[in-house]
Amino acid sequence: MFCWLNRLYRGLSSPTGRTTQLIWGSLSRSLVLSSRRRIPEFSSFVARTNTCGELRSSHLGQEVTLFGWIQYRRQNTFLVLRDFHGLIQLVIPQDESAASVKKILCEAPVESVVRVSGTVISRPPGQENPKMPTGEIEIKVKTAELLNSCKKLPFEIKDFVKKTEALRLQYRYLDLRSFQMQYNLRLRSQMVMKMREYLCNLHGFVDIETPTLFKKTPGGAKEFVVPSREPGKFYSLPQSPQQFKQLLMVGGLDRYFQVARCYRDEGSRPDRQPEFTQIDIEMSFVDQTGIQSLIEGLLQYSWPRDKDPVVVPFPSMTFAEALATYGTDKPDTRFGMKIVDISDVFRNTEVRFLQDVLSKPKGTVKAIRIPEGAKYLKRKDIESIRKVAADHFNQEVLPVFLKASRHWNSPVAEFILEKQSLELIRLMELQEEDVILLTAGEHRKACSLLGKLRLECADLLEARGVVLRDPALFSFLWVVDFPLFLPKEENPGELESAHHPFTAPHPSDIQLLYTEPEKVRSQHYDLVLNGSEIGGGSIRIHDAELQRYILATLLKEDVKLLSHLLQALDYGAPPHGGIALGLDRLICLVTGAPSIRDVIAFPKSFRGLKSDPEICHRSDNQAFRRKKSRQHSSPQ
Ligand code: ASP
Repeated sequence: MFCWLNRLYRGLSSPTGRTTQLIWGSLSRSLVLSSRRRIPEFSSFVARTNTCGELRSSHLGQEVTLFGWIQYRRQNTFLVLRDFHGLIQLVIPQDESAASVKKILCEAPVESVVRVSGTVISRPPGQENPKMPTGEIEIKVKTAELLNSCKKLPFEIKDFVKKTEALRLQYRYLDLRSFQMQYNLRLRSQMVMKMREYLCNLHGFVDIETPTLFKKTPGGAKEFVVPSREPGKFYSLPQSPQQFKQLLMVGGLDRYFQVARCYRDEGSRPDRQPEFTQIDIEMSFVDQTGIQSLIEGLLQYSWPRDKDPVVVPFPSMTFAEALATYGTDKPDTRFGMKIVDISDVFRNTEVRFLQDVLSKPKGTVKAIRIPEGAKYLKRKDIESIRKVAADHFNQEVLPVFLKASRHWNSPVAEFILEKQSLELIRLMELQEEDVILLTAGEHRKACSLLGKLRLECADLLEARGVVLRDPALFSFLWVVDFPLFLPKEENPGELESAHHPFTAPHPSDIQLLYTEPEKVRSQHYDLVLNGSEIGGGSIRIHDAELQRYILATLLKEDVKLLSHLLQALDYGAPPHGGIALGLDRLICLVTGAPSIRDVIAFPKSFRGLKSDPEICHRSDNQAFRRKKSRQHSSPQ
């Protein structure tokens, strides 16, 4: 039995914390609300009279023809038929005259597809099933036809039956029959439809397709290459339609959008795919606030009605604040445990390693508070936390436990003076049984480490039953004022774009471009949802000379590769800006799916392959592979 049916019957919780009946109800509701609250014609153009899931007491007495899959059979008397819309119980005729119908319905294997005709009747009193939307009625079958039989299934199509992802991907067409996949893909379609409606019908955007076969572009992620007919010549698949959308603005299209397929040759991870979809947007004569309001309106308009409504405007935080408080440029603001700078508490400390760090120009001491950590964290957790710090950050972390009656328990406890202890309790708002994780080092490194440990500890606490992040909460955040450039990972003496090379500098920092470019802030904004980056964009450079200077002088890129764009900027390019939303990630968060592969009909597996070797012909040609992108940069 399918998970949703199972939950439906047993009233278990769905992944979003509601009963499946509610989920099913909300799916039907969202289908109904799809186009201006008109109920779609689910049975137009086909021979069925109704869908299985739509039948109710109001249909009593009607003669219906249904098509669907056999979900299960009970004692050769009842059969539950399923289509995309839901389940309906059929009563298998037992009289001699209907022997052939009985034979078909009793012998066809589960998941075979059949056509049945019959009458909608009431279930006998006491046999109604209140957990099933069609539970008051059943179909008295008169005729049946086996349209196609189903072989022995490779796995049961029930969500609670664990199956490997490889098997699910190999038999994706069966996996797609599950309630969860049906829900995810239909919700995705609904949201995209509403986004189109909002952009085109309410705000005059034009939906324009841009080429998929393109040429190599500077910066960003590795690109896939496609051999052309000319030996030795290749196309590149675009990482995004960035250059085209800017050219469209020069072309006076004014407001562009596209549900765009993008390609980046990076491994598949729970939140990444080498081939993915963006809601790509560009506007002329707009500033950062304009783009932000547009996106807030877009999400509010397209948000599923069974979720809590989106509250706008979204809060905003500078990159510097995000790093200092959460240790990342994509903070999960659903819970606290913020990073606190406690350098001042330890200025005169006797703890040697803190003294050493604080004597350096950029040295800091920082900590996070783990509420009731002494109660929930085990010794092995602390060991694994210290190991993460040592392995990934080459950095020491000290756990400090505040025990009952305010006794410290830590390797450095004896060196913490009474005054320091009181100050620490005040600054970090410590309570008994709290633990603080303390580290010392250069600002950025210490913040990144504590940012990572903050998330690790949240996972640990949640695994022990503490509710830190409400699964029904959607916490949006704009991160703004990014630096325009970051030092290159492989060569920190050189600069690379933090977003992409077309991003405009912050107007108040233009002069710094010529003196201290590493200090220039940009007009780049990222949209973060529950700790995941779901979008990013910028106001663009529309001045060819400035663009050339940044590309050639600061980024040391080959400007010839972008001559078409540079030329275009010289022909009256309007000021413009845009953004791209990662559709797969967004839908993944909205549905609560564990991986973006669960919201894509045919995703790539972990290694970036299609699971069926017959349809996987991934080239191993490394010739055009480009440098690995930095993890947090948004390639073009
Ligand atoms: N093209 C950018 C990206 O894919 C988004 C943008 O700047 O509009 O991340």
